[in-house]
Amino acid sequence: DCTVDGVLAALRAVTDTVVAHRDELVGLDRAIGDGDHGENLTRGFTSVLAKFADADQPGTPGQVFKLVATTLISTVGGAAGPLFGTAFLRAATAVGEASSLDGELVAAALRAAVDGVVARGKAAEGDKTLVDALAPAARAAETAATEPNATPAAVLAAAAQAAEDGAEATVPLVARKGRASYLGERSAGHLDPGARSTALILRALATSAS
Ligand code: ADP
Ligand code: MG
Ligand code: MG
Repeated sequence: DCTVDGVLAALRAVTDTVVAHRDELVGLDRAIGDGDHGENLTRGFTSVLAKFADADQPGTPGQVFKLVATTLISTVGGAAGPLFGTAFLRAATAVGEASSLDGELVAAALRAAVDGVVARGKAAEGDKTLVDALAPAARAAETAATEPNATPAAVLAAAAQAAEDGAEATVPLVARKGRASYLGERSAGHLDPGARSTALILRALATSAS
């Protein structure tokens, strides 16, 4: 179900995952950053759910994404807030006024999200950032969406798998963007927190859609 109700249910699943992995994300960010990534995302997605509890209920998936974007930008702060916010804002534009998402729209939303993150943060793949999870996820989604009758669940499952692989592949990398880049060579040997959270979020979306 990728109508507005399905998308709202998926956001609750994302929030549950972020809360469940808060300490893990804090630990990852403590190793190569300032230790707040789990807190930042927990605050952001908890605020998102609160927004949906009192604001006028959005009518389309795109309106949901837009409200997620503005809430994340205003509550998360740091590097991740504007980046995740931009991802959801671009996804909102990509799906337009569609009342329900199909596999192709999901893939288009992920493509738009990664393009927005790259435009905003200027990270390339291999710089040890969340782009190392999101860019392969978008590619895998586009490939999966070319299958006949590709469902959103199938497209998201392919994206989540690619994001998990991409996140794991950040471990040996030296960070060239964000706070971790201040460590230079000492950033190698650690999983990037933003790549990990991106993979967690995509896995939650995939599970919720299936
Ligand atoms: P901060 O570094 O401001 O404390 P967070 O800890 O919430 O912010 O987020 C850190 C994550 O943000 C990093 O693990 C990385 O994945 C991501 N990140 C940082 N800078 C960039 C960038 N320029 N482009 C893409 N992702 C980035
Ligand atoms: Mg941090
Ligand atoms: Mg910080």
